[in-house]
Amino acid sequence: MEPNEVMKMGRRDVLKTLGIGSAIGTLGFLGMNGAEAATKETPSYQKGLAPVTIKSIKAIITAPNNANLIVVKVETSEPGLYGLGCATFTQRAAAVVTAIEKYMQDFCVGKDVDNIEDMWNSFYVSSYWRNGPVLNNAISGLDQALWDIKGKRANMPVYQLLGGKSRFALPTYTSVSGDSLEALVENVKQRMALGYKFIKISPPSSLSGTLASPDYVEAGYGYAGDRHIDIAKYVRAVPQAFEAVRKECGDDVELIHDIHEKIHPSDAITMLNSVEQYRPFFMEDPLSPENAGWWKQLRESTNVPIAMGELFNNINEYLEPMSNHYFDFIRCHVSQIGGLTPAMKVARLAEWFGIRTVWHGPGDTSPVGHTAQAHIDLAIWNFGVKEGRDFSENERKVFPGAPTIKNGYFHINEAPGYGIDIDEKEAAKYPMHYRGYQQIRKDDGTIIRP
Ligand code: MG
Repeated sequence: MEPNEVMKMGRRDVLKTLGIGSAIGTLGFLGMNGAEAATKETPSYQKGLAPVTIKSIKAIITAPNNANLIVVKVETSEPGLYGLGCATFTQRAAAVVTAIEKYMQDFCVGKDVDNIEDMWNSFYVSSYWRNGPVLNNAISGLDQALWDIKGKRANMPVYQLLGGKSRFALPTYTSVSGDSLEALVENVKQRMALGYKFIKISPPSSLSGTLASPDYVEAGYGYAGDRHIDIAKYVRAVPQAFEAVRKECGDDVELIHDIHEKIHPSDAITMLNSVEQYRPFFMEDPLSPENAGWWKQLRESTNVPIAMGELFNNINEYLEPMSNHYFDFIRCHVSQIGGLTPAMKVARLAEWFGIRTVWHGPGDTSPVGHTAQAHIDLAIWNFGVKEGRDFSENERKVFPGAPTIKNGYFHINEAPGYGIDIDEKEAAKYPMHYRGYQQIRKDDGTIIRP
């Protein structure tokens, strides 16, 4: 090797190229004697990481705030090193726990914690049939926990592994309603006073017909716990709510409404056009998955920004609408699509179609899931807004280190990994409970697809 070639290469590359047997000669060439080389320790960043394997996986169920939450804990061969991931499918919690305990344990124990992409794909196809919410949530628990472990191993918050911060914290929206339009306006003002700049509003039940005594109940039809909605009244009530809030609260607040897929696509077009004058930040979930064929017509019929869709399960459900620019915000439920790994792919894909993220984040996303979402949102460029909520006192005891909301911004702490933990003794105080059903019906008892 010519000296000028060596000058172009780093010392490490030279050693690698020449091999260990030539190292002493090379050190001499570089002006370092053997004694100096022996006392110079390899910097920690050059040492790499010792291999770590999965020792155990368990599902922890807890309901500190009523909703059944499932958190996966992955323990490793390194004493004290573990990761947490959200696998919450609150409506079928026991089924997810079975998938984790009966299938994931055997599959994962002894595997390298580092190869997250391979682990994700392996488990994804291990059942041959895939893409269901039960198995996707189970994978999410594993996937998010492995990212938490990777962050702890790197001694960095997970967002650093995703590219670092694109913003100091996450603007967050909160949801309000009220018994009357006056109460709704008052509640919006209260949230604005707390610093929220984004607020999701719902019209009062009295205006949307949900308090009426429906015909199907008198006829003895339906189940206990079913709710009723008068679709025509609801479609009229939403612009009334927007009008009242805009008039009383001004333009310095971004307004959102969630249709929750419950109306006919033609009614959704009517509603979106009726609220355009009130400048919504977005209207959420106008179409049910069964009505995906309406995307083109919906988009061509309105200028209102659209967010979609917490019911998405599999990339094939949203790839085509995204590539056709049919909506403006993507709203996947991160654990439902399989965790942080697929969510990052969705987010990066969305960036190239001008679509921003607003991940689904209600009370049935665990604080671990909210935190994992937040690490994604801190890192990506095309973040829209975070659906947030302040965690209850009980949740904070179960989940030490949970994020906080200040002045409408969602803040994580900067500890390695996600920076959130679980206190299993506290979690055990809130065991899984049977979840009742609250489905929605029309007057005649027809079930409404959310
Ligand atoms: Mg929704």
